[in-house]
This record gives sequence, structure tokens and C-alpha cells, in this order.
Amino acid sequence: MTGEKHDSVKTICPYCGVGCGIQVKQGDEPGDVQFMPWGDAPVNEGRICIKGGAATEVVDHEDRLTEPLIREDGEFREASWDECYEYVVSELERIHDDYGPDAMGFFGSSKTMNEENYLLQKIARRYGTNNVDNCTRMCHASTVWALRTSLGAGAMTNSMHDLREEADVFWIQGANPGEQHPIANSQYFRQAVLEGATVIQVDPHANKTTRSFQIDETDRHMHLQLEPGTDIPLLNVVLKTILEKHEANPDAGWIDEEFVEERTEGFEHLRGTLEDVDVEAAAEECGVPLEQIELAAETYAMADNAAIFTGMGMSQHRCGVDNVQNEINLALVTGNVGRPGTGVNPLRGQNNVQGTCDVGAMPNVLPGYQLVDDDEARKSVEDVWGFDVPPEPGLTNVEVSHEFGNSVRGLYVMGENPVMSEPDANRVAERIQDLEFVVVQDIFMTETAEYADVILPATTWAERAGTVTNTDRRVQRMRGVEKVHENTKHDLEILSEVGSRLFGPEGFDFDDPEDVFEELRQVCPIYHGMTYELLDETGLHWPCYEPGDEGDPFLYAEEFDTESGLGHIEGVSHTPPAETPDNEYPLILTTARLEEHYNTGTMSRRSPTLNRQRPENFVDVHPADAERYGIEDGDEVTLTSRRGEISVVAQVTDDIKEGVVWTTPHFAAASANRLTNDVLDERAKIPEYKAAAAEIEVG
Ligand code: SF4
Repeated sequence: MTGEKHDSVKTICPYCGVGCGIQVKQGDEPGDVQFMPWGDAPVNEGRICIKGGAATEVVDHEDRLTEPLIREDGEFREASWDECYEYVVSELERIHDDYGPDAMGFFGSSKTMNEENYLLQKIARRYGTNNVDNCTRMCHASTVWALRTSLGAGAMTNSMHDLREEADVFWIQGANPGEQHPIANSQYFRQAVLEGATVIQVDPHANKTTRSFQIDETDRHMHLQLEPGTDIPLLNVVLKTILEKHEANPDAGWIDEEFVEERTEGFEHLRGTLEDVDVEAAAEECGVPLEQIELAAETYAMADNAAIFTGMGMSQHRCGVDNVQNEINLALVTGNVGRPGTGVNPLRGQNNVQGTCDVGAMPNVLPGYQLVDDDEARKSVEDVWGFDVPPEPGLTNVEVSHEFGNSVRGLYVMGENPVMSEPDANRVAERIQDLEFVVVQDIFMTETAEYADVILPATTWAERAGTVTNTDRRVQRMRGVEKVHENTKHDLEILSEVGSRLFGPEGFDFDDPEDVFEELRQVCPIYHGMTYELLDETGLHWPCYEPGDEGDPFLYAEEFDTESGLGHIEGVSHTPPAETPDNEYPLILTTARLEEHYNTGTMSRRSPTLNRQRPENFVDVHPADAERYGIEDGDEVTLTSRRGEISVVAQVTDDIKEGVVWTTPHFAAASANRLTNDVLDERAKIPEYKAAAAEIEVG
């Protein structure tokens, strides 16, 4: 179960979804694991950001969990692996007998590998529930929904290499790659701009991305600084501008008529929706001058190849699916899909956020995005697995936590930290205590593990082998060096033992990650053509249906993967955030991540290099708001919402608009998620992290 072991190995950075290749070198002692560059790595060609360079710092950290733990009389005590396995299995069986299989929730994680998430979701399904989900729910569930429904696949349409070479315009909305995907930003997007491409950035915050493109005095960078939650009105102004200009001058190329006619459906619906849009009122609502939006529309529409990049500023809204659908509308009416340098491209936040979904760790899909309620697809998976899968989609992770202590009685967590990562985190911390049984598999005592009944100490990214899938659908191999702590176990080893003890060894007892991958490719058509040998060091982009397929760097050259084969256009109307400012909470709170930290900070807060750069949380406050509230730069302030409060340091800056405050989720002592709203997008069930009503005061 160890996979290959070598003194130095080529592997993948464990942090963001860019998928940079790095090497780790085994020193003289097991804990001595060192970083080495990988000069010709396929994605990053040897370059690395601060997080990647510091990634080995957590491998032998003094906080590592090194022994299995069981809670007894409110305290954790060390236990043997056998005792823990027996306890986990007996509690899972008891909950099944007492309440039925849907009383358990299983949380996978994009910090763990394809093989591990595959096996976790298989255990959930064999247990009898589809209540299995992962942290993608929190970041791009709405993007996946919109892309899968309207184009065919819930992933980047293109690849970073073809975008760097071919795109003339980069439309980056609700994403901050300068901070969150530094190598993609510097090596791909900025490089393209240096060679003449234009960037249109749509974001409420002026940030590292903004500054990285302020290269010279030309107009090759535009920043449309909109109010949080006004992405639909802004894109509707863009779309209406394009439609009206086209009607006035059909030969100018504003719309790709041939593409719209032959390859799309729904254009008339979009036209009808836009009839009601008053562009001047919409621009005012966005807080962006109309002329600036019109210039952006012209720049995008007139480009030979224009690519859209979308991030969590778009997806993490109660209208997240509609937000992304409107980006799809823009790409389709201008014919910017199905060629190199175009498309709609979600930038994924974690090392395996794409793969965790690909392998089916979601409540509504099986491996390869096959719907659980599609009888034919489900049967094809059941035939390989040898057991029936429940035909109804399960609960998403926020729905599971809403049911803690009610219909949900137990929780199995692999590498996730819902007590900090979910919105309205105070609620989650309170309600998790209503559960009868919680098991956590992790490398550190996370904020969630503190509430566990059993903690199973796992190995880190540098000690394990398997595959991960990066933001542009490239499946790559990770390789591990020697295990640091003798009594820890690889996630796959733990799952294999739990599954075998619950259901018998057949289908759960695997020798190594490659054996799991061999089964995965039998049930996951988009991975079917891949083997460990073919993935080798460069990896392959899915879909890769048969061995020998080279994988598609861009999708939809001929037709879309929808039922009709057409790209689906659908007009959308503005849905404002669930909370808007009022007398009690007069500010809009929005949130985002930092370059130096990673989600709930489990790893990055323990990395000395990273934590030194950003040791505590802060809030950006506009100078006019600072003056009104009597706040000086560096003051300690209390930020409150209807759900809680945090104490943070104020950073007075005009990077943010008046009336908006901006903070981060990384720090346990003052996480933004104590304030964020857990209202969900109706279809994708993603929470509205990006907009909540808030108040601020000094002290
Ligand atoms: Fe790691 Fe992302 Fe930085 Fe690359 S850009 S080194 S994948 S954190």
C-alpha cells in the first residue's frame, strides 16, 4: 500500500490546482524531507510560488498526529489501530441498524488523491447512501453544474498551454490568480499579456492580479471594480451591448452568427431576457461606468480568441449557477468555445479539486460524472462493483451539516475541516456536538478533529503515492518518500481496512494505489484510456477514453457533450445577495484567500515560512468608511454579522470600494466563516460566501 518509494521523487505541489511539479528528496532520517525543483515539470517548468517552495515544512511538523486516538470521558487517549478499526466499524454498523444508511455523511477532500476519494465514495455507496461530498461543494459546485448542463463537462474547456499561446483576451471574473494561482498567473496569463494579449478583470477588489497586469501605459489591462454580487447585471450589460451593436452592424463580427445558428440553442431566450435590461440602471447598480463595460464588451467580442476565467467570486453566490451560465452565454454568442485560446475556464483552488469530483465523491454523480439517477449509467458501475447503488442523489456537505443530530447521526471525515470551512461556522461547531459518532482521518488535530470520537493519523502528501487532477484536467502522478512516523497510515490503507472490515475484502482490499486506479478506470469513462505507465511524468488531459488517446487539451471542437450536441444559451436575471446592507448591518462583507495560506490553514498556518508572512487575519476597509467609523490603519476592530463576530486588524485601503469590507477564512482565531451566510444556490447547493451584511467597530 505504499506505492513506489525512492530517495527523491517527482511529485505534485499539494496546494493549489495549478498542479506544479516539484521533487521531494529523502534526507538521512525519515523526517528529513527536502524540497527540490523539477526543472522540466510539464505545467510549471521548474518555477514555483511561495507555497510550493514551503510545502515540505509540514511533513515533519511537531504537531503531526502520530498515534490513533479515541475519545474517552471527554479526553483523547492513544489506542491501537485494531481498537480504532473495531470502534469505527461497530459504530457505523450501529448507526446503519438504528437509523438507516442515510444517517451517515462521508466527506472526502480535494487535499487527498483520486484513489482515496474513489475508495471513500465506494464505501459510502456500499454502506447504502449517496451522502458523500467534498469541499468542491464550497468552491465550484455551481460552476460544475452550469458547465456540465450547458456545455457537457464540469471542467476547464481549454488548457493553460493553449490559452497562453492562442488567447488574445483574458476575461478574468471573480478570480484572483495573482494571489491564488501564482504560477498560472505569472507564467501563462502575464506572459501572454507581455506578448500582446489584453486582460479584462472583473472583481470587487483591486489585488495582486490587478497589480501584476499594470505592466505599462497601454490599455492592455482593464479592471471593472464592481459591487459584490452584481455579476449578472454586469454581464447582461455586456451581452446587451454585443447584441445591439450586432443588430446595428451585422457584418462587424460582434456575434458569431454561424456558430450561434449551427452549434447553440436558446439564443432567443437570452434575447428576450435582455429586452428588460436597462443598461444605464444596471451599470449604476454594478458601480461601474457604462462606457467602461461597453469597452470591455467590444474588446472581448472583437478578439480573434477570447478566453473566460472564472473563480469563486462568481461561484460562491446563491445565484452561482446563473453567474456562470451568463459567462457561458457570452462565450457562446461570440463563438469563443471549441478552439484553442477560448472557452470558459474555472480556476480550481486545491491540488485535487477537479479529480475529487471526477472520481465521484459527490452525492449526485458516480465516477466520470455519471448521474446516480440515470439507471443505465448506474447499472454500468454496479456491474463492476457487484452491489446496488441507491438511485437517489444524497445530501451535499452543507445539507449534511444542517441535519447534524436530526436525520444525520454520524460523520466520516477524510482530510476535511467543516468546522472552519463551512459558512456560519459557529453553527457547525455547535451542531457537530449533536452527532453520535465522528471519525476524522487527518495529519493534524484540526478544528473538526477536536470534536471527533476517533482520530486516525494519516500520512502527508510527500509520503503517499497516487494521482491528482489539476485545474486543466491533467491527471498527474504523485509519488512518496519514506513514511515519517511509523504508526501513521496512508489514507488508502485506512479506507481499505475499514471497507474490508465492514463489507469483506472483495472490492475493498487493495494492494496499492495503482490497483485502485485500475478499477477506477473501469467505471470512469473519461479516465478509461489512462494507466500509471501512460501517465508517466507528463500526465494526460481527460477525456481519455482508450489507451493511446492523447487526451484533449481543449473540448468541443466538433460538438458539445449535451443531449442535443448543442451549447445551451439561457438568459438570466439578477438575483441580489440574500443579505443586503441595512441600518443594523450597513456594510457588505466579502471574502477571499491569500497567496500565503491555504483554505482553513491546517497546513499553511503550520508552515513557518508562510505563517511568518501572514500570521493573522485582517480586514480591508475603505478610507471613507474608516473615517466614518473612526478607524485608523492597524487598529484592532470587531467585525460582526448576524451569525457571529471576529476581532481583526484593520487595513485601510482603497483597494476595496466604499461600503465593502474584505477578509479571509484562513485563521482559526478569526475566520471569516464565523460571519458568512449559509444560504445556498438552489441547484448546486453552494453557499453564498461572497456577500453578507456586516458591521464594524473599533476595539
Ligand atoms: Fe503550488 Fe499552486 Fe504555487 Fe504551483 S502555483 S507552486 S501548484 S501553490
